[in-house]
Amino acid sequence: MIFTVAIDGPAAAGKGTVSRAVAAHFGFAYLDTGLLYRAVGAKNGDPVQAARSLNGEDLARGDLRTLEAGQAASRVAALPDVRAALVDFQRDFARRAGGAVLDGRDIGTVICPNAEVKLFVTASAEVRARRRWLELGGDAAQVLAEVHERDARDMNREDAPLRPADDAVTLDTSDLGVDEVVSKAIAIVAARIAKRDA
Ligand code: C5P
Repeated sequence: MIFTVAIDGPAAAGKGTVSRAVAAHFGFAYLDTGLLYRAVGAKNGDPVQAARSLNGEDLARGDLRTLEAGQAASRVAALPDVRAALVDFQRDFARRAGGAVLDGRDIGTVICPNAEVKLFVTASAEVRARRRWLELGGDAAQVLAEVHERDARDMNREDAPLRPADDAVTLDTSDLGVDEVVSKAIAIVAARIAKRDA
């Protein structure tokens, strides 16, 4: 079956958790597209060249989850040629046999505008900064400042800015537990599959 679940939202909103749970539940493949931008941002030299030559080794680096790597990712992600170089890989992944979940910033709007399910997973900046801080430590005020900075860069860039697709369902995780959000997401996907098979 070809079936794409597009999950977008800002940093640390819980996209990864929801995506992994949905993929595991339905047996779909999962692609964390943020990792592509993180890997490009972490490479030396011309980012466009880095995006064009990205390989499995680049994606397996152990230092891609840091705050610095996130900031570097969001800087290279604003370059249209970097984004263009990563489109085909993401679209091929989305339409692979067996179903796919992709999470990122522009999956429902640009990469997979025809995705069968689109979710926009979000939470307040304060809640997201606290999650990042619990995960990575550091100075709490600086973590919040970086969340604001990255949101602003991702939402205000010209090419593929972060925003919900018109037909996306928004899940706000500020006041919901992980289990509740995951259940909601699974119910939405299950309903769409049932409708398609009806
Ligand atoms: O999701 P994650 O925090 O790993 O993403 C890192 C950065 O990569 C984001 O802040 C964003 O600038 C960029 N990104 C993007 N489009 C995506 C996924 C990530 O621009 N589909």
